[in-house]
Amino acid sequence: MELVFLGPPGAGKGTHAQMLCKKAQLAHLAAGDILRKNVKDGTPLGIKAKAVMESGALVSDELVNNMMFDAIRSLRGFKGFVLDGYPRTLGQAEALEKFLTGQKMSLTAAINFDASEKVVVERLSGRRGCPKCGKIYHVKNMPPKRENVCDVDGETLTTRKDDEPETIRHRLKVYHESTKPLIEFYRKRQLLQDVAADGDAPSVQKVLEKFFEKLS
Ligand code: AMP
Repeated sequence: MELVFLGPPGAGKGTHAQMLCKKAQLAHLAAGDILRKNVKDGTPLGIKAKAVMESGALVSDELVNNMMFDAIRSLRGFKGFVLDGYPRTLGQAEALEKFLTGQKMSLTAAINFDASEKVVVERLSGRRGCPKCGKIYHVKNMPPKRENVCDVDGETLTTRKDDEPETIRHRLKVYHESTKPLIEFYRKRQLLQDVAADGDAPSVQKVLEKFFEKLS
């Protein structure tokens, strides 16, 4: 099963991709996570991407496309993948389609996480993450067992630099201008599945699992 997760930052794409991938043996390919790892490791890609990411703008299509194609090509032993936060522009969506056709693959569905601006801002400003294993928490909605400490490995949780209020506003603007048109792109291809994403994580996950059963 080859899925794309669409939606504004804070819609829950990462949280739900983590849960679904674990259950269904799918690879979770999160463009933002792969970019952040490159920044942390100081790779040539990370050096180019760092300032752009901190400002809340998008890294160039060419860099992100190549990065994601490499990630897909090197997958082994999974039953498919979830692309989380990719594609994010029409150019990326077209390039992905061409790439998958060349690999004799195609998308099963594009899941659109439909979340309101109010909910998204609240989620992003309370979001915390484990710098070691990547597990995502929320100070109110999904707190760790011990305050500010990862349940999995005991690391101190961190806040992403681009989750500051000013940068959140910019990221939402970028979403509306560059990424929202992908909803129509995938609807035209009859791949779009809308999921109401304002609810809490367990109820959204239930809806997703139903979709997943239907698609399998
Ligand atoms: P995310 O973790 O998905 O919120 O992504 C964090 C940041 O990484 C974004 O604000 C962008 O700067 C960059 N990024 C992630 N995915 C993409 C993409 N598909 N295209 C361009 N930039 C991206």
